[in-house]
Amino acid sequence: MTDTTFAPTYLVRTLGCQMNVHDSEHMAGLLEGAGYTAAPEGADVADVVVINTCAVRENAATRLYGNLGQLASVKAERPGMQIAVGGCLAQKDRGEIVTRAPWVDVVFGTHNIDVLPVLLERARHNAAAQVEIEESLKVFPSTLPSRRDAIASGWVSISVGCNNTCTFCIVPSLRGKERDRRPGEILAEIEALVSQGAVEVTLLGQNVNSYGVEFGDRGAFAKLLRACGEIEGLERVRFTSPHPAAFTDDVIEAMAETPNVMPSLHMPLQSGSDRVLRAMRRSYRSDRYLGIIERVRAAMPDAAITTDIIVGFPGETEEDFLETMRVVEASRFTSAFTFQYSPRPGTPAYELEPLPKAVVQERFERLIALQERVTLEDSQRFVGRTLELMVLDGGGRKDGDSARMSGREPGNRLVHFALPEGAEAPRPGDMVTVRVTHGAPHHLIADSALDGGPYAVRRTRAGDAWDAARSDDHDHGGGSCGTGASAPAGPVGLGIPTLRRA
Ligand code: SF4
Repeated sequence: MTDTTFAPTYLVRTLGCQMNVHDSEHMAGLLEGAGYTAAPEGADVADVVVINTCAVRENAATRLYGNLGQLASVKAERPGMQIAVGGCLAQKDRGEIVTRAPWVDVVFGTHNIDVLPVLLERARHNAAAQVEIEESLKVFPSTLPSRRDAIASGWVSISVGCNNTCTFCIVPSLRGKERDRRPGEILAEIEALVSQGAVEVTLLGQNVNSYGVEFGDRGAFAKLLRACGEIEGLERVRFTSPHPAAFTDDVIEAMAETPNVMPSLHMPLQSGSDRVLRAMRRSYRSDRYLGIIERVRAAMPDAAITTDIIVGFPGETEEDFLETMRVVEASRFTSAFTFQYSPRPGTPAYELEPLPKAVVQERFERLIALQERVTLEDSQRFVGRTLELMVLDGGGRKDGDSARMSGREPGNRLVHFALPEGAEAPRPGDMVTVRVTHGAPHHLIADSALDGGPYAVRRTRAGDAWDAARSDDHDHGGGSCGTGASAPAGPVGLGIPTLRRA
């Protein structure tokens, strides 16, 4: 018999990369399938708190145990509360987590998120912590239920794991060898998302463009992009992250020739020095990287290209660093996620002598200054252009009285746009056409509506679905519009050390 009174609340706190964000959606879906309800938006505690951890940064463990320390006192005041820890750090630290934080109820890994509700139940029943880690993937995460945070946009995982051995990266040991989903399964999931109102999908993989390696088709990724182009109602397709070594021209052709594949590319560079790339065990060289960029730009002149860069890898000399600066200048990145190298236990580079902190900091600042200039120049190129934006959720009216809303242009650049006086606000997921009036360092301003310039709204199925979800919320007394559409936050990758900016 179903217990209809069982409706504890849950909350998933996500640390780390986009793969974790996607896994968290599955954790939420699994918990809802088991009768839990989401804690109200903004709540920081619930009956079940799940922390989906990251093992990328040196301070990841400090952050986790800090989080757990705070939760210990909350739990002491809240009988029956449960705490679960999943993700990469859980996969790595396993039982050590309950030794250091005995108030944790469940520890599960990256390969078995499907068992989360069962482990919570078992921990409750046995009144003892449950630690369960699998060494390899049993169920492909995308086949699990999911509670998506957005209606207009969805993440679709096409592969998990990685066959490379970058010396700074913990992914291969925590996420295992690459596993590819079959194209039919991926396309069916995209179609299902589109039927629920999504107009944008982002294909996810640690190494998206080596997709097909498991079933022996090197052209599989380009074919998948083209197949996405056939899906009725799908307006924007993105992917993250490709590896430069596996990047082939058929992908560039597929991007350029498939109208709904957006001109945006997040391709980790990590270093511009061939010597450092070799030490990182990344098998491409700067020439190859720049060649890809050149061909992407030749095929898609407005492509927004973003990247990840590590500064201060052990052994990096000033000369090596200048190579990175050279490649950054030449690449004209729209933006770059820059990281100071931090050694992570369990990676080959952990054994190497780190550079002095002051040296790394000084290089890091030089790199940021260069990239800021390049980013601003990229923004300013767009002034005067008319663009179609997908309206974001939650941005609302910025700057108070300037009544601006936010959207993303095809390359994924963030644009704040003004509404004509008295105009009804477009809904998240609707498309708005406006002209750019100002290029700021990390966003564009499009105030054309204020001086009688272009302003047009194209209502989309995503907007309709957002309206429907909102009226459902009202009907059910939920009162939250927070499940509405939003585009994925700016360009983010999966490859280590890509992290979401907090
Ligand atoms: S950095 Fe990316 S390509 Fe390299 S091992 Fe990690 S996941 Fe694989």
